[in-house]
Amino acid sequence: MTGGDPLRLGVLGGTFDPPHYGHLALAETARVQLGLARVLFVPAGDPPHKPGYPLSPAVHRAAMVKAAIADNPAFVLSRVDLDRPGPHYTVDMLAMLNEMFGGAEFYFLMGSDSLDEFPTWRDPAGIIRQAILAVMERPGWAADMEDLERQVPGIRERVVWLDAPRLDLSATDLRRRVREGLPVRYLVPPAVEAYIREHGLYARENPDCRR
Ligand code: ATP
Repeated sequence: MTGGDPLRLGVLGGTFDPPHYGHLALAETARVQLGLARVLFVPAGDPPHKPGYPLSPAVHRAAMVKAAIADNPAFVLSRVDLDRPGPHYTVDMLAMLNEMFGGAEFYFLMGSDSLDEFPTWRDPAGIIRQAILAVMERPGWAADMEDLERQVPGIRERVVWLDAPRLDLSATDLRRRVREGLPVRYLVPPAVEAYIREHGLYARENPDCRR
């Protein structure tokens, strides 16, 4: 980092129930493409976009993120949304991170599915004031930038596109696979797979699991 350049930090928020290679490939691509010093993985405590959705306990989701990122020194688990009461809005999370890492330039990572819903988030204008949106296209979700610009003026200049591989993985599908006895090996890091097995996550009979 040369003198005067702000520290570039990536932020990947999510429920991470469980974290998978789609998240990791997104974070690593952003790190390299945008020259990020760190990518913060920020598990949501009580996500406002999935109300009433039974979520695995935060202790499990945080432990799985920790296991998933252990081999990448640039990846860091942030407990900013876990250690405070919800609901947790991205705009507040970014304000807290801005306070913690004063002077850093933030890149909020997301898939184009999230960009599509972005205008419905709390204070989208406040989010793009605090962070650049680093977006990768996800299959089936092509962003309509004109429509987004109408809904959130100024967003066009605050979006950068990431050339991340389109891995057709979702936590929802992974939970289904576990529930139905299908393998998740090669879809999540081995340590995450082991954690899911050890704690019996997503199995039908586990009262902690979703549906
Ligand atoms: P769920 O299926 O439970 O909704 P998810 O797999 O989409 O989960 P989240 O934790 O909700 O994962 O996602 C966190 C962020 O990671 C979001 O911005 C989402 O767009 C992105 N993301 C999720 N899956 C992928 C993927 N396969 N490739 C790239 N980005 C992804």
